Amino acid sequence: VGSADEAADFRLKSSHGRAIPLRRGESLRIANLFGTQVVDAWILAKDDPLEHSSMDHTRSVNSNIFLEQGMVVASSQRRTMARLVEDSSPGRHDTLLCPCNAAIYRELRCEGHHRSCADNFHEALGEIGLRLPFTPASLNLFMNVPIAADGSVDRLAPASKPGDFVILRAEMDIIIVLSACPQDVTPINGNARTPQDIGLAILPAQGSRR
Ligand SMILES: [Zn+2]
Repeated sequence: VGSADEAADFRLKSSHGRAIPLRRGESLRIANLFGTQVVDAWILAKDDPLEHSSMDHTRSVNSNIFLEQGMVVASSQRRTMARLVEDSSPGRHDTLLCPCNAAIYRELRCEGHHRSCADNFHEALGEIGLRLPFTPASLNLFMNVPIAADGSVDRLAPASKPGDFVILRAEMDIIIVLSACPQDVTPINGNARTPQDIGLAILPAQGSRR
């Protein structure tokens, strides 16, 4: 039945990125092994990497500023790329804030080079021979960014528990790019400020459910 048991489990290394091709119908299970780790995610169309996940279309299609179970990730062409079919976490995955990047770590007065989600995106693409001249907005899984009535946003430690997972099902042939967020200055990856590994599994398509 396409359970996690029959899927090959692998890791997304802490503070690093990874690009994972998925055929339509296949799913990716993303497990927050420690409960505290944010995962920035992007999706590219397999046949045209310039068609990428778009957080503005995603918010528009879902009429929501968070991604919740059952909602879809829409592309820059407004096509449905993937659906969040299962979510054991408290949900409310952030679609608003930018992926961390070199400029943010300079603002935080980090000395020298600091890994970032934006750099991880491009590094992971390079590993499969792709290159994009820009960084699309990221879907920030497990990132806890509550919005107040006055429109202000907060940045809190993840509310997920160890082992919480999401399952994204590919609704077309795609490449999912993930970054285990390297942020260790603020508590966005937990109050211990310790980036962690993420557990991954590819689940086969369920043939009868097309
Ligand atoms: Zn990050």
